[in-house]
Amino acid sequence: MARDVIYLDNNATTAVAPEVFEAMVPYLTEVYFNPSSMYDAARAAADAVARARRAVADFLGIGSTEQVLWTSCATESNNTAILGVARANPSRRHIVTTAVEHPAVLEVCKDLQRSGYEVTFLPVNSDGMLDVRDFIRALRKDTLLVTVMHANNETGVIFPVDELARLTKETDPAILFHTDATQSAGKLPLNLKGSLRHVDLLSFSGHKLHAPKGVGVLFVRRGTPMKPLLIGGHQQGGRRAGTENVPYIVGMARACTLAAERRSDEERVRALRDRLENGLMERIPSLEVNGRNAPRLPNTTNVAVHYIEGEGMLFQLSAEGICASSGSACTSGSLEPSHVLKAMNVPFTAVHGSVRFSLSRYNTGDDVDRVLEVFPRIVANLRRLSPYWDSERNRPTGRA
Ligand code: PLP
Repeated sequence: MARDVIYLDNNATTAVAPEVFEAMVPYLTEVYFNPSSMYDAARAAADAVARARRAVADFLGIGSTEQVLWTSCATESNNTAILGVARANPSRRHIVTTAVEHPAVLEVCKDLQRSGYEVTFLPVNSDGMLDVRDFIRALRKDTLLVTVMHANNETGVIFPVDELARLTKETDPAILFHTDATQSAGKLPLNLKGSLRHVDLLSFSGHKLHAPKGVGVLFVRRGTPMKPLLIGGHQQGGRRAGTENVPYIVGMARACTLAAERRSDEERVRALRDRLENGLMERIPSLEVNGRNAPRLPNTTNVAVHYIEGEGMLFQLSAEGICASSGSACTSGSLEPSHVLKAMNVPFTAVHGSVRFSLSRYNTGDDVDRVLEVFPRIVANLRRLSPYWDSERNRPTGRA
């Protein structure tokens, strides 16, 4: 693994695991055949795809492999789930989602809204949590689909999708339940026969769990009415046209197996994350952890640093070789605060000043120590230049 930077942006993407790369190489070199070709040589490619499907089905705790659909990324999986279900069930035109979904869900729902669907965007509290009573109240006779993410990419806050899916089916078994598990796959156990047995559709992406970019999965429970998004050849039973990306599919399967084998790494990662988080809270005044009181992914901490801009902190972290990311996104030249932090009512003194550190099994205690050494100094320097900090520093902190 390259160690020239301290990489703490694993919710954005991850390094390809050496074991994953190794598993892919034969399918990038000798076994380059189209898995749908009829000659004997191509059978090795078709067999590799079948084995990968089995491995991913095992990772998801399901028996039958035909419920696993290969896609190119989580964005495609989410689009296929939402639009595919909408096209197959035109009589129901209401969707329930949350205000804090990734744009790969949020923007699809908004697009459906523009074409006449009604969408309920559930709010969250200041810890980024949903109110289950709001959720139950949102379900209607004409609800087609619930799409609620498993874990939030910015804060790591985990939604109780097992409970929400159960409540959905108790209310009306015809309502379909989709979850975007892009951030939880590989970080939390996913058991679609156990606690997640009421989930109909589940999306995730290879590049968040040490497989390469360019491969995703959509789990579609048997019997779920869904039309394909990509239309063309007969691959994957006509449910997703396009030649299967054999090496990447093999890589995805290896990454899933590896994540399951290395489940114990989660506790080590959690300990590193906690050390980082507690260390930052001790060393930096007016710093809060967004979503701290909610259940969270073991690898993520999103810190609200009052009175300074996230971009300045990231720039200076980058100069020290530390990769992290900010809660805010730059939209058409103006700095828009993150929709997730806005939904959580993070006060204006911190909504632009949030930094997300997201760890992986490849991080070490030295990485954490380095951030604890560098980051408080960066914050202190930026605050020295901040007029807000100057006038406000003697004020008590806390949410406005
Ligand atoms: N959903 C979530 C929760 C994500 O975090 C991401 C990526 O950041 C996506 C969807 C989109 O994933 P992809 O880049 O594979 O399309």
